Amino acid sequence: MIKRAYNFNAGPSAMPLEVLQEAQAEFLNYANTGMSIIEMSHRSPEYDTLHKETKDLLRELMEIPEDYEILFIQGGGSTQFLMTAANFFNKERAAYINTGVWSKKAMAEAKRYGEAYEAASSADRNHCYIPQEFTFKPETAYVHITSNNTIYGTEYPDFPKFDVPVICDMSSDILSRKVNVADFDLIYAGAQKNLGPAGVVIVIAKKAFLATANEDLPTMLKYSTFTENDSLYNTPPVFCIYMVNKTLHWIKRQGGVEVVAKNNAEKAQVIYDVIDNSNGFFIGHADKEYRSKMNITFNLADKDLEKDFVAKAKAAGFIGVGGHRLVGGCRASTYNAVPMEACQALAEFMKAYQAEHSK
Ligand SMILES: *Cc1c(COP(=O)(O)O)cnc(C)c1O
Repeated sequence: MIKRAYNFNAGPSAMPLEVLQEAQAEFLNYANTGMSIIEMSHRSPEYDTLHKETKDLLRELMEIPEDYEILFIQGGGSTQFLMTAANFFNKERAAYINTGVWSKKAMAEAKRYGEAYEAASSADRNHCYIPQEFTFKPETAYVHITSNNTIYGTEYPDFPKFDVPVICDMSSDILSRKVNVADFDLIYAGAQKNLGPAGVVIVIAKKAFLATANEDLPTMLKYSTFTENDSLYNTPPVFCIYMVNKTLHWIKRQGGVEVVAKNNAEKAQVIYDVIDNSNGFFIGHADKEYRSKMNITFNLADKDLEKDFVAKAKAAGFIGVGGHRLVGGCRASTYNAVPMEACQALAEFMKAYQAEHSK
């Protein structure tokens, strides 16, 4: 047996063991070609099959309507911050819902293109909730939201209806729960939290919305370059897409998104239960109704113990339990590939730690 860590990293993060093993087994000889997937042309029939299958699987698992494109783009979620703005800032203003660091970064990029304003913000309570009221201004091109806030551990329990096109950053919860793709005009997600290695971003966009994009842009910043060339204008991140393909197959084998979502809810609850039953020893950051099932953020009531807790957790084999460098505290990321067993082990560790440290 290979020794695998209890991996609670926020991103890059745990991948399904089966996926890693499959990749390992075929790394030297992919599909009887006598070469690795990373050694072959992205114009080869073998790659073409993989490329198409990956899109088909994603369409099937997320029930993506036919009038939506699926694109593979490089540059991470951070490049989508500017790319969405560059393409769709075609009115005077664009609205951003500020639910934390990532949405703020997205808004900062949009400010280059016009008046990017906050239609709502959770900054007043250190982003421990999702705002439910929004103030829109006239001439708003789109609204940008972040479905799951990786750093603060909040998620939209359900998505509000907006009167303007909706762009959603799903980098840290894509395929972790069921979403109605038709509620969004453009979804983007970096692969490295729930789907594969860093290096590819999945973009799912409504064709009619893509048709409104600004065309006066550098080639690699235009969505049309990707739609017109099936994401093969230049060399796509072949290995990343290959790993995403394997992860999608894995999700399908689990029973699809609904089963994965149910597992995720149960996994997160195991840890939230320890927080809630700790008599205030552990304090959850997010308001209960907005708790993320991907990133569980908490503090210790005794701040002086936090460093010790993270260090002891690490020594006990729990990796990635320290909070984000900007906010501190503790965070356990329980993405799709983190097994229930790891969550139960962390829950037991937390209980034992509390027993040892409360007099
Ligand atoms: C990690 C993350 C990003 C940044 O992604 P990069 O690929 O590192 O640019 C953006 N948005 C959210 C919600 C994230 O969790």
